[in-house]
Amino acid sequence: MPAIPDSHGHYGEFGGRYVAETLMPALFELEAAYKSARRDPQFRADLEKYSREYVGRPTPLFFCANLTARLGGAKIYLKREDLCHTGAHKANNALGQSLLAVRMKKDRIIAETGAGQHGVATATFAALFRRRCEVFMGSLDVERQALNVFRMKLLGASVHPVDSGTRSLKDSMSEALRDWTASVRDTYYLIGSAAGPHPYPQIVRDFQSVIGREARKQIIRQEGRLPNVLVACVNGGSNAIGLMYPFIRDRAVRMIFVEAGGLGLSGPSHAATLTSGVPGVLHGNRTLLLQDELGQIRDTHSIAPGLDYPGVGPELAYLKDIGRAEYAAVTDEEALDAFKLLSETEGIIPALESSHAVAHVVRIAPELARDQVIIVNLSGRGDKDMSTVARALGVTLREGA
Ligand SMILES: *Cc1c(COP(=O)(O)O)cnc(C)c1O
Repeated sequence: MPAIPDSHGHYGEFGGRYVAETLMPALFELEAAYKSARRDPQFRADLEKYSREYVGRPTPLFFCANLTARLGGAKIYLKREDLCHTGAHKANNALGQSLLAVRMKKDRIIAETGAGQHGVATATFAALFRRRCEVFMGSLDVERQALNVFRMKLLGASVHPVDSGTRSLKDSMSEALRDWTASVRDTYYLIGSAAGPHPYPQIVRDFQSVIGREARKQIIRQEGRLPNVLVACVNGGSNAIGLMYPFIRDRAVRMIFVEAGGLGLSGPSHAATLTSGVPGVLHGNRTLLLQDELGQIRDTHSIAPGLDYPGVGPELAYLKDIGRAEYAAVTDEEALDAFKLLSETEGIIPALESSHAVAHVVRIAPELARDQVIIVNLSGRGDKDMSTVARALGVTLREGA
């Protein structure tokens, strides 16, 4: 398998750098800074130190004895990214890129956010490293995710509601790119998933790959061998590629990307880009996108607020293309069932995003032999989803009662 991406950021026919001329120098500056940071022992030591002492790494690899017994097939392990500071894998990338911003002497950090998880992670590290932080968020998401907006403000960030388009993640990313075009000199744009123009997909993958490097050592220690199957939920694809990249040359290890099937793939209300997207260009890279016949980006839906981006990272599109990775879609209903199942069987309440990955394991584990080993990336914890789940289950929560 050739080195991916190539020097222009291409993953097969995907990836690249489709941005306004004014942003090209900023992308080259970032690429050069990232290359030198990777070789710098001091940068690596700082990354290691904050990962351990602040984010809480390494995260455990937990064998789910109860769930395994219940499903009666393959052995199921969870990689516990839900235990990272701020409650999800997002911290791994926000830490790494914040250290880059410091190294590049950028005083202002901007970010796009959908559900607000990446905005919270960015605001957290901006506070820690004393940077100004401004987060772009679709105005619909601002209304839907009031708690995360409040969190970002407590952390000292400003939140800019974006009123264009569908007023959600896609539009916040467009707005962040627009701001960056006018502010590159003092501003670092901290992208939250393995998407966007080169070198972002590679930078995000590399910072998230700590997940897979740890999981590899842990499974060898705990099982004495590599896993048979890796499973992760996918939006842009950062938690999935983070777990799977360190296994990419182990051809016998199956990799399964799980997308949001929403209300079902037969209708329009889903976000299953790998399953039904077609190639196109959005946010600076060529990838698979959910489009209508006229090439307009389609509205998406998922019960998981962090799974409704209409695109996917270029490396994931490529891994599908060459047949290295499998992909599947899970509906809102299946995700909710998995959310309840993991809570009851293991005492771990997963994020609704991660519940999609768990739901796919519920499908496949019973069909696999008992000596097979599955690792599921538990990308985040479910606290943020309590009101959504309560509503879906028909329960009314009363605050302060
Ligand atoms: C943001 C988020 C995701 C989806 O993003 P990826 O870049 O595809 O990983 C998944 N799980 C959780 C908990 C998230 O916060």
